[in-house]
Amino acid sequence: MAASPPASSPSARPPPSPARSGPRPRTTPTATTCCACSARASSWSARSPPGRSAPGPPRARSSSAQGSTRSTRPPCCAPDATDGSRRTGPAPSPRAAWRSPRSASSRPPSRAADRSTATATSPRRGQECPPSGDGAHAPAAYGRPVTSSPHYDALVVGARCAGSAAAIALARAGRRVLLVDRTAFPSDTLSTHVNFPSAVAEIDKLGALERVMACDPPKATHGMVQADGVRCLERFASVDGIDYGICVPRPHFDDALVRTAIDAGAELRERTSCERLVWAGGRVTGAVLRGPDGEEYAVSCSLLVGADGRRSSVARMVGSERPYRGSDNNRACAFFYMDDPQVGTVWRERLIQLRQGATHALIFPCPDDRVLCLFMGPREDIPAWRKDPMGMWERMLDENPAVRERLGGATNFTKLRSTAENPAFFRRSSGPGWCLAGDAGHFKDPIIGQGMRDAMRFGRLWGEAAAPVLEDPAALDAALRAVEERRDRECMATYHWGNRESRIFDVSPLHREVLAAWDGADPPRLLHMFDRIQSPHRVLNPLVGARFATRAMLRRGADRRAILREAVEELRIDAGIWREELFPRFRSTRQSRSERTDWQWPPRRPARATGAAPAAAPAAVAVDPLDIGESVPAGAERVAA
Ligand SMILES: Cc1cc2nc3c(=O)[nH]c(=O)nc-3n(C[C@H](O)[C@H](O)[C@H](O)COP(=O)(O)OP(=O)(O)OC[C@H]3O[C@@H](n4cnc5c(N)ncnc54)[C@H](O)[C@@H]3O)c2cc1C
Repeated sequence: MAASPPASSPSARPPPSPARSGPRPRTTPTATTCCACSARASSWSARSPPGRSAPGPPRARSSSAQGSTRSTRPPCCAPDATDGSRRTGPAPSPRAAWRSPRSASSRPPSRAADRSTATATSPRRGQECPPSGDGAHAPAAYGRPVTSSPHYDALVVGARCAGSAAAIALARAGRRVLLVDRTAFPSDTLSTHVNFPSAVAEIDKLGALERVMACDPPKATHGMVQADGVRCLERFASVDGIDYGICVPRPHFDDALVRTAIDAGAELRERTSCERLVWAGGRVTGAVLRGPDGEEYAVSCSLLVGADGRRSSVARMVGSERPYRGSDNNRACAFFYMDDPQVGTVWRERLIQLRQGATHALIFPCPDDRVLCLFMGPREDIPAWRKDPMGMWERMLDENPAVRERLGGATNFTKLRSTAENPAFFRRSSGPGWCLAGDAGHFKDPIIGQGMRDAMRFGRLWGEAAAPVLEDPAALDAALRAVEERRDRECMATYHWGNRESRIFDVSPLHREVLAAWDGADPPRLLHMFDRIQSPHRVLNPLVGARFATRAMLRRGADRRAILREAVEELRIDAGIWREELFPRFRSTRQSRSERTDWQWPPRRPARATGAAPAAAPAAVAVDPLDIGESVPAGAERVAA
């Protein structure tokens, strides 16, 4: 049903001035601070590598087009600053989220704070887009171009991996880009953040690598998977000259991308949400935005990029919210940061996955001698994690000796972050004048750590493909669709791999056989999958699989029936993936065997923690009243040294 348009004509009102635009001013640690923004700038410049202040590539359009939005003064000092960049307290440090609670001097806005801001500024609205998503039934109120509103070549909603990447590509091509996000950066998000070399190469292509590396993360040259004591350790191959992975926390990572987009020429508005779309002739031609002061105003654009995450409101507004295929993956995530007890050892150079029974522990070294440990176990474990994080931690150490070897004695834990909602999906991701980049259009299980890489890659590719054809609607729509097809082609096998890995299974003899055979392989076999050099069904193709199955069955005491059953099931899944690769059908809804048949949308939510707290730690955990997947392990003090 069509919702009513804004009470007064939004286009009549001037938009608030942009939060940040153009190259940002720098201050030195010794500079006199005049306001809150200087605090953030000086914390940056204290670690700035030489040359960081160099401006981005020159923009093709005339400088006058940017008008007064480029300021040489810090945005919150500028006379025209009336928006979300003005801070009344000290600015959050992008390092606070993963640093120890003891040492962090300030915290980034918590998810709870983000949530409250979001609800204050983004009231829920009904469906305001044509149900078909093609604009054919656009509400009459939106059926005309918003001629008096400011025009941008592209409006990008969401400014993290996908949004910043798209904005960088478009701005570099000389396009006028408005990048909006309902949060303010640096800002955390519920995600771990391992980046394998192919992802680091994507960061480099965006021109953001120097900034990302400014927090001095350990360079992980090796990847390791260990299951039931059988180890496979390999060295990363080089992808576009990058042969290491990193794990840079999101407040710093996303801020680096945002700043790169600004340097490329994009205009950023923080604490600004996209409320409704504007349609004309079946195309998206603009959007109604809501600024930090609650004011609504319209902007028009030739292209709208929805890069607003897996709960994308742009997807809802273009009528594409319901994925056309997906899998309700079964694993939940629970993670925290801690001081790394292995500083100065080779463990700091390894990204590792330790499997024991049904639970995987993923351990990634972070900057500041911190380490992230993520447990991915059955969804049913989540209430227990939220109820007693440190009790579960001790249980994991007891159950998995390899985790104890790596992290035993770790101290100074942050609060636990957790989620049990990881459904993988594909949405229709392009249409007349719009596309859905990153998680907004496609999500795969985080167990394989590929989401950020793909969000950056296809955000950039969408931007690059659209930039030259923005004035030609037919060519633009064809270009957007071509990138969607390419994304699906490149991501399909990895999506199936994520579905496979997220199944709950105990480590099998077949797994052990594969890991033992590939330990130390050169070129690496296992890491080629993580690096997207070769897809999993090619690395572990049916012939290779049959060889390992035979070997496993010939071992003394082997349960041959179980091994055969597993091998046949894997073969059947592979057959579906090969079929899809050899005979691709765009936006195919045909289910494959990697996808769970009980898939449903919207996804199921885990049961809330109920019952009495365990007697051992009666008041150890405060479950987040907002149920946003975070709980506070007061028991952390018990573990801290
Ligand atoms: C538990 C977990 C662990 C993960 N671990 C990894 C990992 O280790 N490695 C990896 O590569 N990937 C990982 N991922 C996946 C990764 O987090 C995502 O793929 C990636 O963040 C996608 O980036 P994005 O830019 O598409 O969306 P997001 O990062 O979700 O950003 C969306 C942005 O849009 C903004 N927004 C939303 N709605 C609006 C609106 N209406 N108006 C304005 N702004 C809006 C939000 O504020 C947000 O900033 C993990 C995911 C999860 C859930």
